[in-house]
Amino acid sequence: MEFVSTRNRDENGFSASGAILKGLAPDGGLFVPKTMPTLPSDFTLSKGLWYAMYQAIKPFFEGDELEFELEEICKNAFDFPLPFFKEGDAKEIMELIYGPTSAFKDYGARFLAFTMEKLLEKRGKELTILVATSGDTGGAVASAFHGRKNLKVKVLFPKGRVADRQRAQLTSWGDNVESYEVDGSFDDCQRMVKEAFMDKSIDGLSSANSINLGRLLPQMAYYVYASLLFEAKYKTKMTLIIPSGNVGNSTGAYWAKAMGAPIAKIVLAVNANRTIPDYLESGKYEPRASVKTLANAMDVGAPSNMERLFDLFPNYGSFKENVSSFSVSDDEIKRTIKEMYDENGYILCPHTACAERVRRDHFPDEATVVVATAHPAKFNTIVEPLIGKTIAIPLNLYKIMQRPSKAIEIDCDYHKLFVQD
Ligand SMILES: *Cc1c(COP(=O)(O)O)cnc(C)c1O
Repeated sequence: MEFVSTRNRDENGFSASGAILKGLAPDGGLFVPKTMPTLPSDFTLSKGLWYAMYQAIKPFFEGDELEFELEEICKNAFDFPLPFFKEGDAKEIMELIYGPTSAFKDYGARFLAFTMEKLLEKRGKELTILVATSGDTGGAVASAFHGRKNLKVKVLFPKGRVADRQRAQLTSWGDNVESYEVDGSFDDCQRMVKEAFMDKSIDGLSSANSINLGRLLPQMAYYVYASLLFEAKYKTKMTLIIPSGNVGNSTGAYWAKAMGAPIAKIVLAVNANRTIPDYLESGKYEPRASVKTLANAMDVGAPSNMERLFDLFPNYGSFKENVSSFSVSDDEIKRTIKEMYDENGYILCPHTACAERVRRDHFPDEATVVVATAHPAKFNTIVEPLIGKTIAIPLNLYKIMQRPSKAIEIDCDYHKLFVQD
């Protein structure tokens, strides 16, 4: 099994472990499988979530140095539940929100942390992880990597653009985790990380962003699990509606479908950052600066995983055939949170609300799964006034909030990340 760069499929390939350690391909592209594997024919759901995810990831590690450790890694990384809320007949919400930081990013971050720790231990090497976050990534990565051997983490987040409880999860770790509050946007943070990687004088860096293959594979794997479960239950294929920003989560879904998972359509719900819906309408792809919205983890104007979607669907025709996307305004987010609570007593986070709005407006009569990407308690200041009720805090989140907080303030110059050392 080989992984190649989106920018040159003819270059020498990397193994899964090699691609995970590198983060970005040497030419600045993103790693993709040279040929997409298919799901194992003896795939079973009978051993539960982590084992199903293991089976989906396994073909990507064929011949890899971690091939025989993969099962244990999956067992350790995916050790929390994935419940579904039934909203109606063949209408479900897939709750990826019960990990240590109450967001879907826990799956990818934990898989990556366990994988990297194993690889570094084998090599007797150390690595520094640089991660730019618009909200949930940094918390999930910090939590997953905190205290892991031979690994250091530098988390960058945009000042004033993350919720208080998100900020607590970015800044309350210490030890091998450093937090940087950047005077700029998420796109600035992301650019700084890219620049640091290009700087040949800085050694031993890797990424844990959604561009890392190790983040992506679990996001493919839970969609394999969900689609097979849905098909077994309803005898039909689900259409997936995914709250999207950097489109890492949705790229996972496209890979699952490409491997043969029973998924009808994949729909990207975005906030007021309309780069993808505009491309679908105009045929011209125009990345841009992000705008601030209530679903702040999706405030992305230049989605970094688009290169992987363009690798799957290289021209406008095939892209349009396979990708649909709808934009949801802040007013609609608020209305949907209220509506959903009044009708079902169910509390949505602002990101998940985008996907629920898309289901209600565009797919009212289809078999659909809305993906819940974060627990609403992380966005209490937005959600509580809308539903007129205090949201119970998950225990994991409460424990994190009790820890002391520390962040280093810097401007948009990536050199500043390395002066304290
Ligand atoms: C990161 C995030 C998203 C967007 O996911 P992408 O993989 O960047 O598209 C959506 N919702 C929440 C809560 C997130 O943290």
